[in-house]
Amino acid sequence: MDKTDLSLRAAALMPQTLDELSRLVACPSVAFPGYPAVPVLDCANETLSIAQDAGFSNARLLDLGVGYPTVYADIPAPPGKPTVLMYAHYDIQPAPAEQGWESDPFQLTRKEDGRWYGRGAADNKSGVVIHTGVMRLFNGRPPVGVRLVIEGEEEAGSHLEGFISQHPGLFQADVMFIADMGNILPGEPVLTTALRGHALCMVEVRTLQTALHSGVFGGVAPDALVALIHMLSKLHDERGNTAIPGLGASEWSGAGLPEELYRQQSGMLPGVGTVGDGSVATRLWSRPSATVLGIDAPTVAGSANVLIPSARARVALRVPAGEDAAAALQRLVEYLSSVAPWGVQASVTPLRASDSFLAPTSGPGCQAALEALEQAYGRPASQVGSGGSIPLLQALSQVSPGAEFILWGAEDMAYARIHGPDESVDPMEIERIMTAEALSLLNLGK
Ligand SMILES: [Zn+2]
Repeated sequence: MDKTDLSLRAAALMPQTLDELSRLVACPSVAFPGYPAVPVLDCANETLSIAQDAGFSNARLLDLGVGYPTVYADIPAPPGKPTVLMYAHYDIQPAPAEQGWESDPFQLTRKEDGRWYGRGAADNKSGVVIHTGVMRLFNGRPPVGVRLVIEGEEEAGSHLEGFISQHPGLFQADVMFIADMGNILPGEPVLTTALRGHALCMVEVRTLQTALHSGVFGGVAPDALVALIHMLSKLHDERGNTAIPGLGASEWSGAGLPEELYRQQSGMLPGVGTVGDGSVATRLWSRPSATVLGIDAPTVAGSANVLIPSARARVALRVPAGEDAAAALQRLVEYLSSVAPWGVQASVTPLRASDSFLAPTSGPGCQAALEALEQAYGRPASQVGSGGSIPLLQALSQVSPGAEFILWGAEDMAYARIHGPDESVDPMEIERIMTAEALSLLNLGK
């Protein structure tokens, strides 16, 4: 089998892929608490039957002991050949009517723009059909070992990480194909090589025993909410750069991201300026970014003319790829504690740190993937970063130290609207990534 065979066969597979993706999208597999379990389990079974039909003969549901099962299969490597792991997830974000969908989110709908619409059509049921399609391209006999891992709780709080460390033998691989990403623009291939980490803390300020009449007492005793605002204002400098000292920051050296596309995607309002210095890609992928997620204080409706005795805020920090998230969290906590004004009682509690991820690109898996992308798309691939951290990658790299990670997929940034209304996928992206993944396997099996 060569490149042309694979491309032609991938194209011929698309009607079946559409049918399989329709069956998956028809299951509202929201794994969040409070949503019905039956559609999630239906989706697990639908994924299982597609995997079996595609040639994963020992596909089965892995009971993690808690939560929803993972669809798992393995095909042993031919002697002397590497093993690849193919990851995607079958659970989805909710799709409430208030989001304003134009079509039924649980009925895969082809529109005139050529895209296929539905919740999960891109994130990440496209990944499921990419991996199973690759297995079909090899008629169930790939040139390398394959492990299929389709998770059921990626959006809702994964239980897979713990399971991986308890059952390392099921997840060891030389190359991990994570098909839960996408190009910036359809038709322009990228490999995601950096993911930002995440750090979270809680800031609480206390100044008074009780609320005090602001006319009688205001002007001398500090108000806790004002003190908190003072502290939060120190997270950024005048230009909007994150001001926490000691955090790593560099220039992004991969592909750029046009500011116009960023503005359009982010829905920034007219006239609103951007924050921070450096290119959009640098600010997104190589610099820290602090945000205030929420504040507990009186609501406007419930407010009165008083000095507020206590207030708190949850503060999050995106950490550049390659930086230690735990160390960044420590610096955030120390910095916020140091900017508390007027001797107020301020406590800053570290809540959580998830590490960033930086994929090395020099290994044979990554080189095979870059070459395959160029063949499948007819143009060279560039490297980009991504905002989200994927804790699962840490678990996988612990059981397979030195494994290479290929982060790609059909979730293009420009149009896919993952997590939002009218999520969609470009079928050509499914076809090209499927081709690229198959070509990579072919290269790795040489
Ligand atoms: Zn996803």
